[in-house]
Amino acid sequence: MTVPGSEVVPAADDPLAPIAARLFQPLGIEGVYARTALYEGVMERLGQLISRQRDERAEVLRFPPVMSRRQLEKSGYLKSFPNLLGCVCALHGTEAAIRSAADRFESGGDWTTALAASDLVLSPAACYPLYPLVATRGRIPEGGLIFDVAADCFRREPSRSLDRLQSFRMREFVRIGRPEEITAFRDGWMSRARQLADELALPYSVDVANDPFFGRVGQIMAVSQIQQALKFELLIPYHAQAKPTACMSFNYHREHFGQVWALQDSRGDSAHTGCVAFGMDRLVVALFANHGLEIGRWPAATRAALAL
Ligand code: 5GP
Ligand code: ZN
Repeated sequence: MTVPGSEVVPAADDPLAPIAARLFQPLGIEGVYARTALYEGVMERLGQLISRQRDERAEVLRFPPVMSRRQLEKSGYLKSFPNLLGCVCALHGTEAAIRSAADRFESGGDWTTALAASDLVLSPAACYPLYPLVATRGRIPEGGLIFDVAADCFRREPSRSLDRLQSFRMREFVRIGRPEEITAFRDGWMSRARQLADELALPYSVDVANDPFFGRVGQIMAVSQIQQALKFELLIPYHAQAKPTACMSFNYHREHFGQVWALQDSRGDSAHTGCVAFGMDRLVVALFANHGLEIGRWPAATRAALAL
């Protein structure tokens, strides 16, 4: 008997279907999977490889999968991707009110109608909590700041495709400072990322990105993002015929977060920010998709880079 959700089920014509079961185990929801030891072993080595690329000045911070709703609202996320946001809801009120809502489930009713939004959302990217945190520390020092952050991120995009998870891990290097410091950081990383992909023997291209901003107003935001060349991506095809998957992004936010959080650079101007995001799950799937399930047979360069 097949229990619904008992398999990780990429669409039948998905060339990744044969490797899915060795990497992921089902949890009953599309795009939400348990990861196997085989997968996590590579994830750990990839994390270490990225740590070795870290600027020695970087401050390391690891964020939980939830963040302040108020902070994300203030960041402008609802203008860009309200359709992707997950908000934590809970049962509030008296013991009797909570009991009666919970009991509705037992009697076959809908307990969720009693839920109300809490002060938490699921983080949609790893760097959002950083800017308000740094703002509490006063002016950005001369030379700017650099951070290494990570979080389990959530985006409400159910899919059977192995590169579109609802819950996925993101690692980021974030730079805060003067405009020229951010552009130098981003440009440096766009070439370093190419080298990394070469070291991992992964095929890739780098291209200007356009985010799927929500709705009609979002189309204008998308055009402006391209025109200002604010975002680039490292794209890796998972197989010969595949549309390449964005596995890293290189983002320049200009003064957006500086203005929202009153972050000032050493001269008292609004600080500029930028980040380089590693889609950790997409990169690990890219490694298995391109090199196969037998790590012992991966290219020597890949094994050396990952110290496997
Ligand atoms: P961005 O903020 O640029 O959209 O996301 C940063 C990185 O997170 C992307 O380059 C990608 O590697 C990863 N990412 C974004 N959405 C998904 C997703 O739905 N599934 C997975 N596995 N990774 C994602
Ligand atoms: Zn970021």
